[in-house]
Amino acid sequence: MGDLRMTHILIVEDEEKLAALERDYLLKEGYDVSVQLEGTGAVDSILAHRPDLVILDLMLPGEDGLCICRRVREHSDVPIIMVTARVEEIDRLLGLELGADDYLCKPFSPRELVLRVRAILRRGKTAAGAQPTLSHGDLSLDRERFVCTRQGRSVELTPVEFRLLESLMARPGRVLSRQQLMDVAYEDHRVVSDRTIDSHMRNLRHKLGDIAGRQEGQGGDTDTLIRSVYGVGYALE
Ligand code: CA
Repeated sequence: MGDLRMTHILIVEDEEKLAALERDYLLKEGYDVSVQLEGTGAVDSILAHRPDLVILDLMLPGEDGLCICRRVREHSDVPIIMVTARVEEIDRLLGLELGADDYLCKPFSPRELVLRVRAILRRGKTAAGAQPTLSHGDLSLDRERFVCTRQGRSVELTPVEFRLLESLMARPGRVLSRQQLMDVAYEDHRVVSDRTIDSHMRNLRHKLGDIAGRQEGQGGDTDTLIRSVYGVGYALE
């Protein structure tokens, strides 16, 4: 029923021309769009009107994007795309862990904005429509209670390990590249090296009692749960 309502996007941006350009592109995509030209009142507006997504400029008259993002996150999980004029600012913003869902650096093409918006909204939909529990052999993953069990025993996983295992379990047998795994492990597009993924995988296999996690390349494949594909990535057997 809720799907009949148009997807509502709120743009908080003080550059009027840019705001109008963003609005026009998003309207063309079929979204319902509103624009707020200053920071003051943005938090109230977001909490009152509950948009489906917010595009939030960092430098704003009145309250800035940082404060707005922080204050909104205390009350709401609405997806936020943070926009900044300086690429080097993005690292600092990531470090602050504001809870923004994505970052865009000005100048960006309206096309790029539309793609990011679509990706985030799609992600929200899949997450909402996904099965609460994934099972594979004696392994099970409860996404709502954030619990992993193998052979009936619970396995303590970190959030990153949980997301990695979740994406492997969602596509059993399929090889996921390190890049794909990095994307799911770090939704904020943080730049990490391939080795980081390898070390998370090693820990994950170890915790799951996966033979391959203890003795890389030895002991045959019978007990291997997560298979490492040399030079490519990983797959769930
Ligand atoms: Ca601005």
